[in-house]
Amino acid sequence: MAAPAREAAAPAPAPAPVPAPAPVLDVERVRKDFPILSRTVHGRPLVYLDSAASAQCPRPVMRAVEDYCMQSHANVHRGVHLLSQEATAAYEGARDRVRRFLNARSTREILFVRGTTEAINLVAQSYARPRFGPGDEILITGLEHHANIVPWQMVRDQTGCSLAVAPIDRRGELPLNEFFKRLTPRTRLVAVAHVSNALGTILPVEEIVSAAHARGIPVLIDGAQAVSHRAVDVRALDCDFYAFSGHKLYGPTGIGVLYGREALLAEMPPWQGGGDMILTVTFERTTYNELPWKFEAGTPNMSGAVGLAAAIDYVEGLGLDAIGAHEQRLLEEATAELQRIAGLTIIGTAAHKASVISFTLEGIHPHDLGTILDSEGVAVRTGHHCAMPVMEFFGVPATARASFACYNTREEVHRLSAALHRAREVFR
Ligand code: PMP
Repeated sequence: MAAPAREAAAPAPAPAPVPAPAPVLDVERVRKDFPILSRTVHGRPLVYLDSAASAQCPRPVMRAVEDYCMQSHANVHRGVHLLSQEATAAYEGARDRVRRFLNARSTREILFVRGTTEAINLVAQSYARPRFGPGDEILITGLEHHANIVPWQMVRDQTGCSLAVAPIDRRGELPLNEFFKRLTPRTRLVAVAHVSNALGTILPVEEIVSAAHARGIPVLIDGAQAVSHRAVDVRALDCDFYAFSGHKLYGPTGIGVLYGREALLAEMPPWQGGGDMILTVTFERTTYNELPWKFEAGTPNMSGAVGLAAAIDYVEGLGLDAIGAHEQRLLEEATAELQRIAGLTIIGTAAHKASVISFTLEGIHPHDLGTILDSEGVAVRTGHHCAMPVMEFFGVPATARASFACYNTREEVHRLSAALHRAREVFR
């Protein structure tokens, strides 16, 4: 008998795609770029856990600013002499660097400002104020920084429009059904944080933008706490405005960015008047400059822009994926260690968090806690973190907040928890 025909071998199933391993950061090498990290505080090696307030500057940023000041500084745009041309090239080159960082279509969409606060005020005064009136509503969320609350209250008081607030829940998350309920025919603008500075919550901004756009509502994203942890692509997000600050991205203070969709910026009146934002001036009338300069009155912060471009080179050189993965490991480790401390409550337990951990320790006011930690060399922020409504929601006057950046180590997480254990002893 003939042997039964063997069944044709089934093709081997395609192997499941192996997720790319999280890139690894050489933290010891990174730390060498930050001279301040090797100083001592009260006789102890500094443990800097306050980067959400202001990140430290690496040498390449300082060097870029120094080179600019030593070689090319002059006022921009109007000079025919070589230094002015070099300064202009450096400043406008920095703008293009930011454009690439955010993947914006054009440098006309990149405005240099002092920081996130100024960016949001610009949108409030130049976009919202001329358009909105009674019956119109601006929608924010319950976890916003004061910089994304107060400018809208000012517009409300100036125009008679109103301010709606989508609530957060006890984890510090934004329930989207509650948010969507507040998108009504009255809503004229949505303004939300990408990442909460007080809680660490990462908001689902993609879903927020698409729901708002489905109703024709533009969206501003406060990216102050996001850009140092993850790559941001304003075209993929499809947001209308995106704001961030240089000093939270390892860059200098006094420089920040407002990305704005060109069609919106083109329709908006200038926000401040003065030099550089004009084409012609007579006593009767002024014609305004083109984008982006229409929004940049006065001598801009050239050295800041140069430093910011260097900071972007720096983080992209390390890799934002690598930075984000490293910070997540520290966040997980810190969360696990802090949860073991009796009387410690973590405020902000969202499923998706950036590397910010806010907490209270029973029986110790956060300011006293901050002082004790400082005496151990551990720098954390204590207070309301410019998010008083968040503190009110959680029923605390303040929290202590540790935030982790590319240069922090597991050893520093242990130093934080050891210092917290000591604080418990002091107040027992
Ligand atoms: N928004 C958020 C979420 C922030 O964390 C901050 C800074 N703490 C700001 C806005 C304001 O940024 P700046 O002070 O640089 O203008």
